[in-house]
Amino acid sequence: MKKLTILGSTGSIGVSTLEIVASHPDKFEIVALTAGNNLTLLKRQIEQFSPQVVSVITEESALKLSKMLKGKKPEILHGVPGLIAAATAPDASMVVAAIVGAAGLLPTVAAIKAGKDIALANKETLVAAGHLVMNLVKEHGVKLYPVDSEHSAIFQSLQGHRAEDVKRVILTASGGPFLNCQLEKLANVSVSDALNHPNWSMGQKITIDSATMVNKGLEIIEAHWLFNLPADRIDVVIHPQSIIHSMVEYLDGCVMAQMGVPDMKAPIAYALTFPERVTTGVKPLDLTALTGLTFFRPEQSRFPSLRLAYRAMHDGKSMPAVMNAANEVAVHSFLSGKIRFTEIVEYIEKTMESHSPHPLDSVEAVLRADRWSREKTRELLCEAL
Ligand code: NAD
Ligand code: MG
Repeated sequence: MKKLTILGSTGSIGVSTLEIVASHPDKFEIVALTAGNNLTLLKRQIEQFSPQVVSVITEESALKLSKMLKGKKPEILHGVPGLIAAATAPDASMVVAAIVGAAGLLPTVAAIKAGKDIALANKETLVAAGHLVMNLVKEHGVKLYPVDSEHSAIFQSLQGHRAEDVKRVILTASGGPFLNCQLEKLANVSVSDALNHPNWSMGQKITIDSATMVNKGLEIIEAHWLFNLPADRIDVVIHPQSIIHSMVEYLDGCVMAQMGVPDMKAPIAYALTFPERVTTGVKPLDLTALTGLTFFRPEQSRFPSLRLAYRAMHDGKSMPAVMNAANEVAVHSFLSGKIRFTEIVEYIEKTMESHSPHPLDSVEAVLRADRWSREKTRELLCEAL
């Protein structure tokens, strides 16, 4: 029986994780859940999975949740201390990090320090603080399993092979909803167009990140930390069908690829039960129904975000944290109708240009760089509005 805590249980990854848990009651038990504003869903999850502890963002939500629950209640906590208490709940052996954004950093770090294995969906944590997180993983002897489909595909394609034989990894990208949109029309796409991803159903922020390809940029940095590879051995190829989830090329010219229909339940389950494989309810891949698998190089002019990610990696130090935080602010502004789609990447670049990267030797330093970037991006936005 694996005892799990899920950070961000009401999100897209959190819900898919609980579907796997529900279909294998003999394998998993839920110790703690944390959520944001969706108290109705959290209440249902509490009734179904009986966690010992839950945490929400505000005290007001905690009181409201307590009133909504009848009968035996879990301990209900709130705020960052609540999040950290849930992340370190003694009975859990694994924490699923599925909060969106840099808000996931503190609880994930706390979980690692408490000796929990991590199933990591929250890529922003590695982007902002990869060197610190990977050092802590080593220091505390815990395992960190990728949930992101590309990184799970690479992890799966590495099994049984020697790291020193890897030539490069190739991340696949669907290209998002605007892959074939005329470049001059990109500035005027609507929020609902940008939220309409062709292959994956995900939370709002990552769906916008997929449309700008900032997501792939963040994933390049994530791959760098997870697989200890330099930027020039991490490539991106557009693969609109999202059937091959990523690949590893070896020195002898062999390429290992992992395939499947696009459904996050497969990579989530692999992270939960590695090296065992369990049923997931994911539809089988019908090869004969495929009309073709195509691959091409991403156009620089359409996806300037990739250039920014390679630059952030090249600069290193505080720059990836700054890139990530600027993106969070810019995506929020786009979703609230304040800026155009193409301005998301422009604001990230402007913020990065006004930053001189400096070393980050603690989580507090990462959070300071994150705050600096948010303030700078907001300042740039205010100047323009
Ligand atoms: P989501 O928006 O659907 O869910 C996010 C969860 O985090 C929710 O439970 C929300 O309440 C909680 N949350 C948000 N802000 C919070 C805060 N400040 N404090 C505490 N809790 C907070 O997001 P998602 O699509 O499930 O993505 C989660 C993470 O997984 C992201 O880092 C994303 O990049 C990554 N990821 C998602 C997918 C996917 O298919 N959805 C695929 C790969 C990676
Ligand atoms: Mg991904």
